[in-house]
Amino acid sequence: MTTKRNPSVLIIGAGATGMLAAIRLREAGITDVTIIEKADRVGGTWRENTYPGVACDIPSHHYCYSFEPAPWSHQCALGPELQDYMEYVGRKYGVTEMVRFNELVTSCVYDDHGKWTVKTDKGAVFVVDFVIAATGILHHPKFPEIEGLDSFAGDSWHTAEWNHDVDLEGKKIGIIGTGSTSHQIVPELVNAGHDVYVFQRTPQWVFPFPNLKFPEWMRNRWRAKPSRMRPWKWFYQTFVEQFFVKATIGAPVQNALLNFSVKSYLRLAVRDRELRRKLTPDYGVGCKRLVVNFTFYPAIQKPNAHLITEGIARIEPGGVRTKDGNLHELDVLVLSTGFSNFSYMRPMEMVGKAGHAIEQSWGEGRYPTSRAILMEHFPNYFLMLGPGTPVGNNSVIGMAEAQMGYVLQLIDLWRDGRADEIEPTSEAVASFGAFLKKGLTGTVWLGGCQSWYQDADGVPAIYPYKWSTFIKSMEAVNTNELTMRQFQKDEVSHAV
Ligand code: NAP
Repeated sequence: MTTKRNPSVLIIGAGATGMLAAIRLREAGITDVTIIEKADRVGGTWRENTYPGVACDIPSHHYCYSFEPAPWSHQCALGPELQDYMEYVGRKYGVTEMVRFNELVTSCVYDDHGKWTVKTDKGAVFVVDFVIAATGILHHPKFPEIEGLDSFAGDSWHTAEWNHDVDLEGKKIGIIGTGSTSHQIVPELVNAGHDVYVFQRTPQWVFPFPNLKFPEWMRNRWRAKPSRMRPWKWFYQTFVEQFFVKATIGAPVQNALLNFSVKSYLRLAVRDRELRRKLTPDYGVGCKRLVVNFTFYPAIQKPNAHLITEGIARIEPGGVRTKDGNLHELDVLVLSTGFSNFSYMRPMEMVGKAGHAIEQSWGEGRYPTSRAILMEHFPNYFLMLGPGTPVGNNSVIGMAEAQMGYVLQLIDLWRDGRADEIEPTSEAVASFGAFLKKGLTGTVWLGGCQSWYQDADGVPAIYPYKWSTFIKSMEAVNTNELTMRQFQKDEVSHAV
């Protein structure tokens, strides 16, 4: 019987994917695992985003770990419940105790002999065999480039940095942006009776999905016997995979149904023609990330809600001046302007083989990877949810579970002594880029909108194929796509 080698693995980030990576590594018998987390708690997205109305917009029985179903209170869990869930999973699976909190990774440098040196802002230095970057996709708040933004005299913040110390009672609140986040916040503020001014640059298509509350007796039945949740997971998973994902990649029936749903919803929910005109996008359904919501349209029609579409000229101490010359006086200005895309694990110093810096690979709007996990010149370094990952509007937790299975197979090549250094070939990287690009034809993402979905070469940051294709692509590692090196022996390229 041969014993497997036990590698040292460092995980960056203790959000949903970092915790998953730690759990799976431990299950595989890998004991030397360190997690570095910049914040003081696990949870990632659900720890950071605490804005009013924060909730998942994917059904929670599907948006959770496959091995840890939960008796969710709502069809789409609210932010605090998701955060509690993440913390619970962290405790139950012994992840929390493995995490170094309040510590930021500042550099990852490869030594050309199978080891990464990882440094943190606390002065700690780790030398490890593998790094897993579980840093999430959208986490660096994007501040709009609007003249006078800093001159605003009232309180102002980005949605990901909600200031709970400010009492909003009796205040005039402005919100710039109308993405998924804004669609969740606006109804909360309007329904609480605040005077809300929504500055819309581009309208969004909205898929109607009421957030049903599950009755307590049902949740008790789930608590008593968790296997009762299986049909729910199956139902939601099937709905998302067979309807949403297929609609986005151009399946005719699903796409027609999606178009019918969002367009009829807008027509039925907004009866005022002028308001409806303002809320009607001029691009294809799903081209920008679809908003899943059932509360925004009713809220925006209330007397204390104001939709402003004239375009922002500048921000002044007293409020927002629009291009028609009007000054919209405000006490609070909320920036719901999204996140810097393609940041992933950056900013940090990242130097791979032979001094190759990440900027040399990921520059000029290009983010090449192999299977969204591996990068050429950065051996033994794996991305969770890297560019080319999101599969339609599906659960990123499901995607991460599939990717982690692939990562474990890669690590197993090392554990079995078949390789000390694992890197994708340049052909594999080029072929994955071409594969993603080819898949874009016929998808909703070419629907004539401005979106962050494509890089400078037209390679999408999302995965433009069916869920089953993605799952299949994660089933078995194809060693022909890898350059594997053993330092004791001669270099073995494309080893099988
Ligand atoms: P977003 O979708 O990127 O929307 C940003 C909004 O800000 C857009 O309406 C954009 O207008 C506007 N904007 C940006 N710069 C502007 C400027 N200079 N002037 C005027 N308007 C400006 O951001 P988000 O709503 O925070 O959502 C980000 C992502 O988070 C979503 O795509 C989704 O993946 C995720 N999300 C998920 C959930 C969930 O429940 N799962 C909830 C919320 C968010 P343009 O459209 O004209 O650029």
